[in-house]
Amino acid sequence: MFLKSITIKGFKSFADRVKVDFEPAITGIIGPNGSGKSNISDAIRWVLGEQSAKTLRGGKMEDVIFAGSGKRRALGLAEVTLTLDNRDGALPIDYKEVTVGRRVTRSGESDYLINNNSCRLKEIKELFMDTGIGKDAYSIIGQGKVEAILSENSVDRRELFEEAAGISKHKSRKEEAKKK
Ligand code: ATP
Ligand code: MG
Repeated sequence: MFLKSITIKGFKSFADRVKVDFEPAITGIIGPNGSGKSNISDAIRWVLGEQSAKTLRGGKMEDVIFAGSGKRRALGLAEVTLTLDNRDGALPIDYKEVTVGRRVTRSGESDYLINNNSCRLKEIKELFMDTGIGKDAYSIIGQGKVEAILSENSVDRRELFEEAAGISKHKSRKEEAKKK
C-alpha cells in the first residue's frame, strides 16, 4: 500500500485545489520558506484525524481553513483527500484504491469520508490501525519526533512497537470489549 496522491482545497495556504502525486519510492517536496511544505504534512495528519489545533500549528481548528491573503478572500471550507493504492490489500477494505477525506466548514460542520461515503473518525482509525499510518503512527515523523521517541517512557515506546508488530488492533478491541 502506498500514498498515491493528496488533493487539498481551502486548507491553510492552499486556496485553489491542488493535487500532489506521489510515486511508490521517494518524493521530495522542496520550496522556499513559508511556501507550504509543512502544510502538506499537516494536511495528511488532519485527514487521519488530528484533533489538536496546536499539533497543526494553529490556535483553533478553524485556522486550517484558508484565511485569505493579499487579494484573495478567506474561504469557508477546507477539504483534503488522500488516495491510497491498496492493491496489496494492506488496508482491510475490498478496494484496490481507497480514498480518505475530511471536510470542515467555518461554521464547524465536519465530515470524514471513506471512498466518498460519510463515516466516523473511528472508522478511519480502524482502517489504518496496525498499518503504521495514523496521525501519531511512525509513518509520519515530524521535526523533533526522533528525539521524542528516544526520550519517551517505556510504555509510550512500547505502543510504537505494538503498532509496528500489528497487535494494536487486538488491544483496541479488547479495550472496547471491556467497556461493554
Ligand atoms: P519552512 O521552509 O519555513 O518550513 P514551509 O514551506 O514548511 O516553510 P509552511 O509552514 O507549510 O511553510 O507554510 C506557512 C505558510 O502558510 C505561511 O505563509 C502562512 O501564512 C500560511 N498559512 C497557514 N495557515 C494558513 C491559513 N489558514 N490561510 C492562509 N495561509 C495560511
Ligand atoms: Mg516547514
